Amino acid sequence: MEIIEKAPAKLNLFLDTPFRHPDGAPEWKMIMTTIDLADYVKVVTVSNTKKIQVETDTGFLPQDQKNLAFQAAIRLQKKFRINQGVQIKIKKKIPVAAGMGGGSTDAAAVLRILNRIWQLKLNLNQLAKIGLTIDSDVPFCIYSQTAAITGKGEILEPLRQLPPVWIVLAKPKASVSTVNILKKIPYRELQHGDFVQAKAAVLKQNLPDLVGAMTNVLEQVTINELPQIANLKQKMLDFGADVAQMTGSGPTVFGICSKLSRAQHIVNSLKGFCEQVYLVQSCHLNTDYLLPQKFENH
Ligand code: ATP
Repeated sequence: MEIIEKAPAKLNLFLDTPFRHPDGAPEWKMIMTTIDLADYVKVVTVSNTKKIQVETDTGFLPQDQKNLAFQAAIRLQKKFRINQGVQIKIKKKIPVAAGMGGGSTDAAAVLRILNRIWQLKLNLNQLAKIGLTIDSDVPFCIYSQTAAITGKGEILEPLRQLPPVWIVLAKPKASVSTVNILKKIPYRELQHGDFVQAKAAVLKQNLPDLVGAMTNVLEQVTINELPQIANLKQKMLDFGADVAQMTGSGPTVFGICSKLSRAQHIVNSLKGFCEQVYLVQSCHLNTDYLLPQKFENH
């Protein structure tokens, strides 16, 4: 049996952290949205073996247990004692190590797919709990809908779709290590954003309020390593974005525009400065088939 799922990227509209837990994990205050830039994940089950294989169409990604998609498959296989192997094929469209949750969304897609193939009857909440053991962004990616996220990534509060906006993404060539950036968070010096106001802006679908409330406390940490991010952000604003911000631990910077013509102007203007530029929109993945009441009829 085989199933293909879309695995969309995420963007951090709001990213703050009030403290670090004793195990080193940050406590998060985040708002994330899903965009229509997505990987495609195909899972094929194989009988007479328990082997898990991962294949990606990019040469440099791990194909073994270091791949988060592999980890998703092995978690379910072990937990539910499944005597079947799987082949996972990932068509990568999301830039790697870019702050867009590429690995996490692939893992989330594998969890959703194997839940169906192996008829595990887990709902989104239960899948999110398993996902948290892989990476803090996996619970969000299980739902892939605009949400507020707290805890270590496991507490999700669904928000509303963004108002219709255009989003320009610019991914600089340089990459950053998330682990390294998280280690360097200067907790005592952080300027905290207003999480309540940011959530209210999304719930009201009020773009000016959202623009005013957006923040990412990791931005300065990453800019200290890669000053070009500050230039890229300034260029986005100079070319007409309503707001520009880094996503996750970077280095991708995104600009939000209410007008398509302005977004297209930014895309064209940035092409000389940045290799990878994309024009996308926010969207919600349809995971209705995994809601408990729907699942029974599936
Ligand atoms: P994070 O913020 O969660 O660290 P990111 O969104 O910035 O991640 P990813 O594209 O997930 O970046 O890549 C981070 C690391 O995860 C890379 O070093 C990559 O080798 C590893 N990785 C493991 N599995 C995958 C996958 N399926 N897709 C992309 N990267 C993966």
